[in-house]
Amino acid sequence: MADKKELYSGGCACGQAFFKVTGPPKRVGLCHCMTCRKAHASAFNPFVVFNKQDVELQGELRDWESSPGYSRRFCPVCGSRVASVRDTEIELSLGSFHSVSVLTPQYESWIIRRERWLNPLEVPQHERDAGASLS
Ligand SMILES: [Zn+2]
Ligand SMILES: [Zn+2]
Repeated sequence: MADKKELYSGGCACGQAFFKVTGPPKRVGLCHCMTCRKAHASAFNPFVVFNKQDVELQGELRDWESSPGYSRRFCPVCGSRVASVRDTEIELSLGSFHSVSVLTPQYESWIIRRERWLNPLEVPQHERDAGASLS
């Protein structure tokens, strides 16, 4: 089987854990929920979701199941959040990519937790979850 073309790549801050993506994004969002805020130690989490088979993770990662069936994986050396895994999907944070402005959020979730100093993007706004098919 021929190697699939690498479309995106990124990794943790120390570089021991990294990812390669060979398939198209399913959706790109920005989450303001308290769990994302704390897990990333940031005001929000911009993320992209891919099919699991399109993402290759390498290096050592530890797991935190932040909700049933949803596992947040992080580098045990530097603490960076690298991926979240659920069913057939993997979520990567845009902040983990090796380049900036690779993908742009298409919606925002949990805007009831958005910092007041942060302006909304001109995309669909969801007070809480964006719906069963989104996160
Ligand atoms: Zn690391
Ligand atoms: Zn969240």
